[in-house]
Parts: sequence; C-alpha cells; structure tokens
Amino acid sequence: MTVSHFPEFRLGKVLATSFTATLTERCGEPVERIPVPSRLVDWLAINGLVVGSCTMSQLDHARELRESIHAAATAVANRSPLPSSAVQVINDCSTDGRASVILTSEGGWEWRLGSASVEDALSVIAADAVSIISGERHGKMALCESPTCRAAFFDISRSGTRRWCEMNTCGNREKKARFLANKRKKSSSAG
Ligand SMILES: [Zn+2]
Repeated sequence: MTVSHFPEFRLGKVLATSFTATLTERCGEPVERIPVPSRLVDWLAINGLVVGSCTMSQLDHARELRESIHAAATAVANRSPLPSSAVQVINDCSTDGRASVILTSEGGWEWRLGSASVEDALSVIAADAVSIISGERHGKMALCESPTCRAAFFDISRSGTRRWCEMNTCGNREKKARFLANKRKKSSSAG
C-alpha cells in the first residue's frame, strides 16, 4: 500500500498540538490526516512512539482524545472554563497507559512504551497536553488567525505573538490573500 494518497502530516515542535493538527481546517473543509488506523501508527512512529498495531476502535479513541485536547486548548486560548468532558477524556487517557520517560546513554531522553500499545502512546500525548494546558510549560496557548483553521497551537516564540498555527500553510495563505486583495484594490482604483 502506498501512503501517497493520504494527506501529509503537519508536524510541529509540541507533541500535543502536533497531534491535534492531524485534523486541520476544522472551521472550513476539514482534512482528516489520520483517516485509517495505519496512518495513526505512522504518525506515532514519526513522533517516536512506535506501536505494534492499531484497531479501528483505537483510532476512534485517539480521535476522541485529539478533539478533547483541542477543545481544552481552545478554552485556554479563549480564557474560558475547561470543558469537563474534555478534561475527563484527557485524564483517563493520561492514566491509562504504561509509558515512562527514560534517559538515553547520550544524555537525552525518550519515551519507553509499556507494551507498545496505542493506549500507551495516547497516555504520552495526553500527559504532554496536560503540561501545556495547565500552563506548567513556558509558552502561550493561542488560536490560528486563519478563519477556516482556528487551530489551537502552543506559542513558544520569545515574543509570544505568533498568529498562525503554521507559517508555511495558514500564514502564507493569509499573506497571499492580502496581497491579492491589495492588488485588486490598486487595479480598481487605477481603472
Ligand atoms: Zn492554522
């Protein structure tokens, strides 16, 4: 099976919001980037969370966690109360898995998954979500300014003024749209 007909992944520096970015354009025409279980396995492997297999119900479970993280992150960005159902799902996933952090001999660190199950991997993602949603980590939760995207992202830039979830996609599209609008304005005022 070739993977080329599946939408590509959008990978960021923060695990939890990279995960929520497996669904994009939530406010436009949504693009599902993990449409089948094997794509979740691929995504996890790219993020250092290698699991043996994934069933359809595990994929559903993963998507439930993903949307819960997005809902909670959006609430934080809007300074609204956290939705309790989302908190429940994140906490259940976080405590469900048997993953642990280990030091590598090179002095780095990595996750070691208990039985290399999807649940273990989801617990790592949920724990990462807890660290950014709780405000424990340095950074700021924000929402992408693209009206069709509105993705929650974690701004770790020094200025804390990032406007788009991703410069290469939403940022460039916005710039292009502004450029074209300006051009139209100029040509209509000239004519
Ligand atoms: Zn965006």
